[in-house]
Amino acid sequence: MAEVEYLTVATALEKVLAVFSPLPSEKVGLADALGRILAQSVTAKDSLPPFDNSAMDGYAFRAADVQEASDEKPTHLNVIGEVAAGAVFAGEVTAGTAVRIMTGAPIPAGATAVIPVELTDETYREANRPLPDTIGIQRAVNEGDYLRRAGGDVMAGDLVLEAGHTVRPQEIGVLASLGVAEVEVIRRPRVGILATGDELIGVKEPLRPGKIRNSNGYTQAAQISALGAEPVILGVARDTEEDVRAKLQAGLDAQVDLFISSAGVSVGVYDVVTAVLQDGGGVNFWKVRMRPGKPLAFGQYQGVPYLGLPGNPVSSAVSFERFARPAIMKMAGKTKLERPQLPVTILENIRSDGRESYIRAIVSKSEDAGYTAVTTGGQGSHMMTSLVKANALVIIPETVMEVTAGTELMAMMIDWPETVF
Ligand code: AMP
Ligand code: MG
Repeated sequence: MAEVEYLTVATALEKVLAVFSPLPSEKVGLADALGRILAQSVTAKDSLPPFDNSAMDGYAFRAADVQEASDEKPTHLNVIGEVAAGAVFAGEVTAGTAVRIMTGAPIPAGATAVIPVELTDETYREANRPLPDTIGIQRAVNEGDYLRRAGGDVMAGDLVLEAGHTVRPQEIGVLASLGVAEVEVIRRPRVGILATGDELIGVKEPLRPGKIRNSNGYTQAAQISALGAEPVILGVARDTEEDVRAKLQAGLDAQVDLFISSAGVSVGVYDVVTAVLQDGGGVNFWKVRMRPGKPLAFGQYQGVPYLGLPGNPVSSAVSFERFARPAIMKMAGKTKLERPQLPVTILENIRSDGRESYIRAIVSKSEDAGYTAVTTGGQGSHMMTSLVKANALVIIPETVMEVTAGTELMAMMIDWPETVF
């Protein structure tokens, strides 16, 4: 039996994270890049916008021609044509002339400004309405007004996105504008999920005496998917070494980057995960000074990192939050590994036991602009519904035995709901 180490949350997290580094990259189609981390920086081959174009539906002309224009005394210009988005005006704007122009259409040669249609005497515009012969301009404009300059957003040759940047919808938009159809991103971590325990039955099975449904496997798969990583379901292993080994082999075959299991890591007689890991690569058993949580196995199985989480559903979910999530984020290439934390005022007295405690709570914005927190009910490590009601885990630091209402604590936000802001 490996020696059991007592660790603080911070030390345990540090030891876990030390083992992981960003995975190798792969090329993916732009539409599949959402949520991924760029493995290579992106340099613009084109400028954005690619050409000078109109910011408004209006008229393009020489700004110098309309310096005296006003509502009372419009300056009249001869309309020599029209240019829509996607077209190019073949002629040239000369003194005293104007071209009707649509938003996004290229600025005709010779024009130096645009005026929106609302500042002309053209009172309405409909499809097929013939071009007027002249247009009254009712406002003086400066050169460049209502124009969007070529390269005004991005210049060809600019470094647009650096390696390490997270691809969000707006990054996808910029890359599409630049004609980047494929990007090099960090590979999605593949995480094998194993539930263990003779008491576990499937979700569709009716309950029988002594049995409970395997919920951890589902929670963990969802936690992994929510990170943009790929869960590989290894099923439920009976409390025998052979079954645990067989299920882990399926994970090795699927080339997982990490194993996560729940249960079987305490000191129970049937905690067979322990035995399997001990001859499968080596493992450390930690008692983390944390609540809920505590038992944590961390090591490797046949060269693949292995994180054995506790069995109780809330302990499993919170330990995942604290240790597995940052590890997976690090493999995915992210640098900000932690959930955001907010200072909150706790509105009730809470007892603790000196371990770093993660209290299920709902954080909301109070009238004086600060944030307050109330607990969401029973904090037993088997009570999932109080986690369902929570948007945060309020952290009671180590050694603190009692918190009184009005104390400020940090809240780890597991959600950032609109109701809070
Ligand atoms: P153990 O770590 O094996 O002592 O399990 C601790 C508690 O967690 C027990 O009450 C188990 O029944 C429960 N448990 C273990 N695995 C799961 C699971 N996959 N889903 C739900 N509860 C579980
Ligand atoms: Mg068990």
